Amino acid sequence: MLTAGVLAVQGDVSEHAAAIRRAATSRDRDCEVREIRSSGVVPDCDALAMPGGESTTISRLLHREGIAPEVREHVDAGKPVLATCAGLIVASSDANDDRVEELGLLDVAVERNAFGRQADSFEAPLTVDELDDPFHGVFIRAPVVADVGPDAEVLARWDGRPVAVRQGPVVGTAFHPELTGDGRIHDLAFF
Ligand code: GLN
Repeated sequence: MLTAGVLAVQGDVSEHAAAIRRAATSRDRDCEVREIRSSGVVPDCDALAMPGGESTTISRLLHREGIAPEVREHVDAGKPVLATCAGLIVASSDANDDRVEELGLLDVAVERNAFGRQADSFEAPLTVDELDDPFHGVFIRAPVVADVGPDAEVLARWDGRPVAVRQGPVVGTAFHPELTGDGRIHDLAFF
């Protein structure tokens, strides 16, 4: 039985829950999904999803509610995290924005809203390391990984720029894998 937590301060919570269930089913695993709005739940979770939304708001709430140190302990214990879009920004070690208090789970610097106004939102097929077939990337006011430290590895690029990274148990994507009906990114992050 896998207990997965989805940070539910903002973002696509039910979509992440559905993607986690899909990934668990593909592995013949039972799973329970818990929504996290306050401290005390993360320690019961085997895996965590950090959805998108607005990174400034998410980081403020994570620190205010005392969830941030629990997420760090979760990763220190080697348990998996999937951080998507704004989640990636919060999980980074440098968001290039003073209003974001990064968790430093990934040794990467990110640039918020990096694809600019004209290409605010777009979809693109991505070649992802660890996956046999391309993954449909949905980008919504997405960040880009501007700098990758020695401890992080790039899993996917778009237009030459890193859009998915892994560091130990933490996977971060600039796109929204929960919006595709395809559980493979949740699978590679959690199982
Ligand atoms: N633009 C948002 C931010 O910088 C992220 C967008 C998203 O999560 N879809 O926080």
